[in-house]
Amino acid sequence: MSLNRVLVGGRVCAEPDFKTNEAFPSALEIQIQTRLNKKHPDEIVSVVVLDDSLIDRALDEIEIGDFIIILGRIVTTDFERTLLTECPCCGDTKISKTHCEQTDIECENFTLLTWKQADDFKESVGLNKLFLVGNVCTPLKMIGATKNAVKFKLAVNKRIGKEKKADFPFLICYGPVRDFALNYIQQRSLISVEGSVVQRDIRQNYSYICPNCHRKVAVPVLNTVREVNVYGMDFMTTGEPGDRPMQSSERENQNSENTGSDL
Ligand SMILES: [Zn+2]
Repeated sequence: MSLNRVLVGGRVCAEPDFKTNEAFPSALEIQIQTRLNKKHPDEIVSVVVLDDSLIDRALDEIEIGDFIIILGRIVTTDFERTLLTECPCCGDTKISKTHCEQTDIECENFTLLTWKQADDFKESVGLNKLFLVGNVCTPLKMIGATKNAVKFKLAVNKRIGKEKKADFPFLICYGPVRDFALNYIQQRSLISVEGSVVQRDIRQNYSYICPNCHRKVAVPVLNTVREVNVYGMDFMTTGEPGDRPMQSSERENQNSENTGSDL
């Protein structure tokens, strides 16, 4: 069982562009400002359009400044990144390949709002909603200086033709959702998730030993990371490992029903 739905709405804040999505070199990228009111800082989410006829429609219809609602899904891609690096000591150039995992939102359809609809929408905080059903596929990891968040990956199944595949987005949980996850969730739990997509740019260092002068070279690489900020989470099955323990009232009921049995 799986579900993978993303709804993103806001103002188109850059000209749609076949820029440099390394995972999808021929994709059209649309950047959307999803936080629209003044109380919140700008929040940009970019979406890729992969389907040729949808790309044609997007190029025809979408302009910078338009208000748009995108229906899509999360896709994760493994690819090899090619880096051309130059050693700062000896000037030796090297072509390296590194393994990258990238998470994107694929646009499956879009709607442009009319002038009147957009006027109402402008006052809102935009739209950034995501619904997933999948299996927890990594151990839970506490992150942050105060361990205030929990991070793990979800495997969300999909079918491409006859082939069964999966997308593997990272999920981050704070507050009560973090506590729920730590108490009840473990690897393989089948869960439903409600959240939003957060996007940020991070600078990572790729390092290697120069084959010419044998010194260590560190090259900064800019990565756009997209993760799921989880607001709500629930189990999709009962009786599985990691399932929520019975509430004390349920346990009492069961005990009274079972009076006289071997239990
Ligand atoms: Zn060197």
